[in-house]
Amino acid sequence: MKKTAFAALLLLAAPLVAQSGPGRGPGNGTGNPGTGTPAIPAVSPLATYVASLPVEALSSAETGQLLYLREEEKLARDVYRALFAANGDRSFANIAGAEQRHMDEVKLLLDRYGLADPASAVAGEFKDTRLASLYTDLVARGKVSLVEALKVGATIEDLDLSDVGKALDASDNRDIDAVMQNLAKGSRNHLRAFSSRLTALGVPYSAQYLPAEQIASIVAAPHERGAYDETGKLLAGTCTGQGRGGRGQGHGRGRGPGAGEGSCDGTGAGPGAGRGPGDGTGPNCPNK
Ligand code: ZN
Ligand code: ZN
Repeated sequence: MKKTAFAALLLLAAPLVAQSGPGRGPGNGTGNPGTGTPAIPAVSPLATYVASLPVEALSSAETGQLLYLREEEKLARDVYRALFAANGDRSFANIAGAEQRHMDEVKLLLDRYGLADPASAVAGEFKDTRLASLYTDLVARGKVSLVEALKVGATIEDLDLSDVGKALDASDNRDIDAVMQNLAKGSRNHLRAFSSRLTALGVPYSAQYLPAEQIASIVAAPHERGAYDETGKLLAGTCTGQGRGGRGQGHGRGRGPGAGEGSCDGTGAGPGAGRGPGDGTGPNCPNK
């Protein structure tokens, strides 16, 4: 067959009317908020921050408070473990885990200042006699019922907040203050947890150590996340997670994954850059 005849056949085979053909065009658009889980650093951001601070002179008041707070966090841990063994309520096991981290944070300071650790490896055993008798009393009360156990929990956090507040007032070392701010934050969260369950059971917690209005304002505030510095401000980078941006959608039917920053609660928001096939209604169709 001749070349010209072949070309003519091809022309005949092609539709005679103009039609839209497939086109390709980049799309651009804003993505929807994405979701993600907060980043979990390998080393605690607080430990890293404390290590970056100077070791300052230690007053005798600061020494006494560090030794006391190490055992006070142990009191919380040991009481919650005992109550979990008695009632099987998971929240006591979870909060006992947080108290172990609080103990570890105080231990960081004991090590930095070369102080001997007063904490016994034996559950319920304390050098401080007041803490020893509190342990016996609180475990006995908490074993009576779940409501009593939750009241004991709120009482311990109330006491911790009162004591950590005093320690913060008396200390001027930045590393000590940073740890105290984080102990206080943890206690406020624990107080919120115990208090909301008591309220749900119809027996709101009544303040025993802090002023009632202070307890009320802590309980009314939302759960706190991230790690704090010595002034109670969030440490840079401790409250960001990895969020995925939403899918971009734009002109030319762009579609594509976006990238965004997540926040503490695992939600993220970010722009999505869409890229994809256009809808083909452009001016470049071959048969027009
Ligand atoms: Zn604690
Ligand atoms: Zn606590």
